[in-house]
Amino acid sequence: MIHEVLPVGMLQCNCSIFGDEQSREAMVVDPGDDIARILEVVRRHGLTVKAIVITHAHIDHIGGAQKLKKATGAPVYMNHNDAELQKMMDVQAAWLGVRPPDAVAIEGEANDGDLLVVGATEFHVLHTPGHTPGSISLWIPSQGKLVAGDTLFRDSIGRTDLPGGDGRQILRSIHEKLMPLPEETVVIPGHGENTTIGREKQFNYFLQGL
Ligand SMILES: [Zn+2]
Repeated sequence: MIHEVLPVGMLQCNCSIFGDEQSREAMVVDPGDDIARILEVVRRHGLTVKAIVITHAHIDHIGGAQKLKKATGAPVYMNHNDAELQKMMDVQAAWLGVRPPDAVAIEGEANDGDLLVVGATEFHVLHTPGHTPGSISLWIPSQGKLVAGDTLFRDSIGRTDLPGGDGRQILRSIHEKLMPLPEETVVIPGHGENTTIGREKQFNYFLQGL
């Protein structure tokens, strides 16, 4: 499977572009910004975007979704528990001192246990609330990968001091949904470097004593 990670926007959100080599179907996760660059990758691989997935409704992850949707016609998937946050896009834009992005309509649910399919590859939706109420992670067993949004980072976890954040809930999500995954699973966090489940289990200070 084709997989490129592009850090986009002023907060360098990791946007993932997955493409199936046979069907040339693609899924874009967290198109926060820099849609022209995302589309360049899509074109370079001769892909057609079939789905846009938002790990959570923070502006750095969802900001470019409407632009990408307009360019590709692909439906947008997000967990409904982040609907309130999505309505606060003007407030979020003010936090960063930027103009609010165009609002995007969500037409796909992303609930715990849902399967999204790209070509022959299954993406399992894991509801991992805490950073936001509707935060999700995507587990791709056949690739040994986890797209973790802002739930788990290399050596850290997502902040929980923003509206809708919950410090106990994020630890519960990581403990119940992410730590049981195979240790060699490669974690692509919402920002920064990749890690593995095993590495975070061993070294992540925030997860000690879980
Ligand atoms: Zn983020």
